[in-house]
Amino acid sequence: MKALSLTSSASSLAERFFGGTCYLCRGKSTGVLCSPCSGDLPYLARSRCPQCALPTLHGAVCGRCLAERPSYDATVAVFSYSFPADVLIQGLKFRGELALAPLLGEALYTELGGVVAPRVDCIVPVPLHDLRLRERGYNQSMEIARAVSARTGIPLRGDACIRVRNTAAQLGLPLKERRENVLNAFSSRQAFDGASVAVIDDVMTTGATLDEVAATLKKFGAARVVNWVVARTPAD
Ligand SMILES: [Zn+2]
Ligand SMILES: [Zn+2]
Repeated sequence: MKALSLTSSASSLAERFFGGTCYLCRGKSTGVLCSPCSGDLPYLARSRCPQCALPTLHGAVCGRCLAERPSYDATVAVFSYSFPADVLIQGLKFRGELALAPLLGEALYTELGGVVAPRVDCIVPVPLHDLRLRERGYNQSMEIARAVSARTGIPLRGDACIRVRNTAAQLGLPLKERRENVLNAFSSRQAFDGASVAVIDDVMTTGATLDEVAATLKKFGAARVVNWVVARTPAD
């Protein structure tokens, strides 16, 4: 079991927001989570498809990625999108609890293990459409990306990729419709000129959105696109 440790600045930020109690059980804690709750986090099994992070035997590329190669080259995911990781992500995404972002960023950083990081030139969060951004006031993927950028020292290009179409929520749509829903939804204000880019998102479900973001970044010159996501749904 991995223990999720927080940097001291993230930890004091958490204390300020959560008053020294665990976000999940309200027990006494110096960080966002107490050690028992950290221990309950649903880490994904090691054996996963390197391209889309779905569980596979011996970590081989899965049948779906072999049948139709996604535009992204690899996916690093930390948790299964289940309790209590889902509570943390929903807290950040829907309840404005921005102090959860450093914890989720730290989880990603730990998962990366410092191996992938040096091979990435910049970090790009999955963008929200301007209307959605104004409604919510922040982009949860940007908040996580900021934390990962601060931790890894990899530059954040937060404004480069934009969502040009305000698409319907992907939730509940079948895969084919999810693809159509996000088709041409993204663009870029800047060229990526052969860069290796890490795209950050909170949850990866079918991967249709991340596939479209990766295709867009490659259209704008990115040589390699990897997904760094906090949680992965088990299947779709
Ligand atoms: Zn707890
Ligand atoms: Zn796969």
